[in-house]
Amino acid sequence: MINKARTPRKVASGVFMVGGPDLTDPRDCLCYLVDGPQARVLIDCGAGPSAAAILDLAVKAAGKPPTHLLLTHAHIDHAGAAAEIKRRTGCRVVIHADDAQVLATGDMKRSAADWYGLALESLEADEVLAGDGVIVLSDGDELSILHTPGHTPGSVAAWCLAGGQKVLFGQDVHGPFAPAFGSDIEEWRESMQRLLELEADVLAEGHFGVFRPADEVKAFIEEQLASHQE
Ligand SMILES: [Zn+2]
Repeated sequence: MINKARTPRKVASGVFMVGGPDLTDPRDCLCYLVDGPQARVLIDCGAGPSAAAILDLAVKAAGKPPTHLLLTHAHIDHAGAAAEIKRRTGCRVVIHADDAQVLATGDMKRSAADWYGLALESLEADEVLAGDGVIVLSDGDELSILHTPGHTPGSVAAWCLAGGQKVLFGQDVHGPFAPAFGSDIEEWRESMQRLLELEADVLAEGHFGVFRPADEVKAFIEEQLASHQE
């Protein structure tokens, strides 16, 4: 249930947590909002039932509804509310091509919707990324999107500078991996190397919370890599 007293949690300058298990719904991933002068980007949107609650927190954080919804992949705990948030805000929905079909068809298995006992409402994204991408936040400032396949083929991570800190949105950096998701461990290892090279100061993760400073970010990613050695 929506607790009206709930407030967005500040992660960094202009970056807020606006959804998650103890904020909106136990089935939601951690959802973040990047509030820039030219774009307000919601990063993932939870499993679906809490669409209104997440939107409420996003508006509390930025003063206005999101202009963009970046989906880090098409799993239902990240993308379940996409169609409803699109209806309510008209925001631009961005997803990588390799996960776009899962969303467009409401694929129950690839989206893990069957695990959650929920249905994924199908949605055609507005922008389908063929590789990396970018969302302009202001003149000279942007949210960079990196294609980081592994957990799913179309998984992406994103990063931006916030108050001089490099904030990385690395949803589902930890996996899990399953044939039903189209996971690829080798690709995932390469993706994690890309994330390590960023040397981010803050990792805003999809299920395990927010890690800082840079040493903690590095340690968390390296732990994940170590736990999936063959
Ligand atoms: Zn996932």
